[in-house]
Amino acid sequence: MKKITLGALSVATIGHSASALSWFFPVTKKLLPTITGNNHGANYTALTFDDGPDPAYTPLILEALAQKGVKATFFMLGQMVDKYPSLTKEVVSEGHNIALHGYEHRNHLFRSAKTIAFDLKRGKEVVEVAAEQEIALYRPPYGVISGGTLYGCSKNGLKVVTWTNWGRDWRAAANSETVIDDVFKYNPRGGTILLHDSDCTSAPGSINSTVAALPHIIDRLHNDSIQVGPITAR
Ligand SMILES: [Zn+2]
Repeated sequence: MKKITLGALSVATIGHSASALSWFFPVTKKLLPTITGNNHGANYTALTFDDGPDPAYTPLILEALAQKGVKATFFMLGQMVDKYPSLTKEVVSEGHNIALHGYEHRNHLFRSAKTIAFDLKRGKEVVEVAAEQEIALYRPPYGVISGGTLYGCSKNGLKVVTWTNWGRDWRAAANSETVIDDVFKYNPRGGTILLHDSDCTSAPGSINSTVAALPHIIDRLHNDSIQVGPITAR
């Protein structure tokens, strides 16, 4: 576990492999509604996918979203967009929002502000060329926000959005039931759900649990009269 300081709030922040962050959401989403994407209003929840595009999973996620008539925000990695530019275009053509997850998937705690700013510049350029649209939102790998993250965002005209709810779908032990339980561990109204459309930074095959859980997550939100869509609040 590592510590970062965000304004007056000292928070513990950890990577994909840890699970002790759950206590953190009820506090931070109230204190930091804009950064955590907890500003959508009580009848809306944003749905987001990190780490893609990935030919093994992104098409399956797109298919599940299309079947439910739901749009989402995809935080793409420049490295993956470089490999799969046509898949990036497919996500755009399906009407989803595109955002940046960096060029490389590296923890900002161990990188200089200058290196982070370059990574964001490089990633933004790659994603904007492939997506043929301007990118405004950025989510740092592991949700770690350092002074360098804020510097890099300022230099590149990006706004940080993390999440309020997650499916912990990167774990080898994840299955559709655990993903659903984790997503709804806290009230998602007004917030932002983190899922993944690639296992390139996580346990191989783990995203099958996301694909299986996704229709049930959307149905449950709809049954609670919550509209599901991309990040809209800025
Ligand atoms: Zn990630």
